[in-house]
Amino acid sequence: MELMAGPPYRTWVEVSRARIVENYRRVRAVVGAPVEVMAVVKADAYGHGAVEVSRLLESEGARWLAVSNVEEGAALRRAGVRARILVMADCLPSEHEGLAQYALTPVVHSLEDLAGLESFAEARPAGLAYHLKLDTGMGRLGTRAPAEEIVAAIRRCRRLQFEGLTTHFASSADYSTAQTDRQIEVFEEVLEALRRAGTEPRWIHLSSTNPVAYGRRRAWGNLVRAGHSLYGYVSPAKGSAPARTLEVKPALAWKARILAVKKLPAGTRVGYGGTFRAERPTTIAILAAGYADGVPHRMGNRGKVIAGGQLVPVIGAVSMDLTTIDITDVPDLAPGDAVTLLGQEGNVELNAQQVARWAGTISYTVLCAISPRVPRVYV
Ligand SMILES: *Cc1c(COP(=O)(O)O)cnc(C)c1O
Repeated sequence: MELMAGPPYRTWVEVSRARIVENYRRVRAVVGAPVEVMAVVKADAYGHGAVEVSRLLESEGARWLAVSNVEEGAALRRAGVRARILVMADCLPSEHEGLAQYALTPVVHSLEDLAGLESFAEARPAGLAYHLKLDTGMGRLGTRAPAEEIVAAIRRCRRLQFEGLTTHFASSADYSTAQTDRQIEVFEEVLEALRRAGTEPRWIHLSSTNPVAYGRRRAWGNLVRAGHSLYGYVSPAKGSAPARTLEVKPALAWKARILAVKKLPAGTRVGYGGTFRAERPTTIAILAAGYADGVPHRMGNRGKVIAGGQLVPVIGAVSMDLTTIDITDVPDLAPGDAVTLLGQEGNVELNAQQVARWAGTISYTVLCAISPRVPRVYV
């Protein structure tokens, strides 16, 4: 491993701390002081590095972080992160011990699970706070129990502390449907029932990035869960959306070095399956990154990278460790030079949403797919 320790890397990601801080500040400015911003750092902070991002935002004043599972939360605690950590994507009973050990706060998704967690908490000296998630129409995790049953189940818990009521939207950037409004109504009905019963959750949270970015205030509660926007992205809206009030910029650039440059005569085929045939004498560069690093396989013969300040096409199939590009029209590139898979060179920019269009996927997966074998450098 020693040999691998330092630069120059074959391929690497540069994460701009200043950009993440700026994006976080912008989210906070949009929702205003009464609304807390929970920084979503699941999936290694969407590939940006959960420990780094958490430390950074904690020092910016973030009081809440969100992860998917106990393991992710434990890794942050082991790195010294002190902020509250919400575990969003459910727990198996075998993970309850980890919740307590690492002072993590679970989202509970059914009344049965709530009773199970209460039994676990009864056997422990300290109490445990939890947030309850409603399935208001997403049709995934969350309870669909009637309001009265929810109220009764919360009241039955003596050891657990009910701290938050939450839900998640299925179509938050889609203004051509009323699905989000209906979800908000279902949520408010349960919240009202709780209030009538004298129970006010400390935290009320429904929104991820999109309802913040498009100003859906009714869904902000007093806490919003921002992920994508911290990393510089907002999903494009469908239908007639209000103007976006949040401007953020990508925080991550991805580079790969050229391993070799070659001239191929017209007629030569390139890569697995020979799916590209050079129609002209072609200069190719072979890059030190492939699908095992996270380059989408679907970029083959479709995607582009920035080389020498210009967008150039990916040719042939993307392979596991290598990607080939056509640099016939870009003079002066040599082995060892870096090209940009995501990021900016001069005026030319390539972001995860553009790559996602070429790859037939969404920007989230482009970011999450950048593999752990690609070193992250913080600038
Ligand atoms: C991932 C996630 C978020 C963050 O969503 P973004 O669109 O990235 O802001 C919020 N809430 C839940 C439940 C999530 O799973």
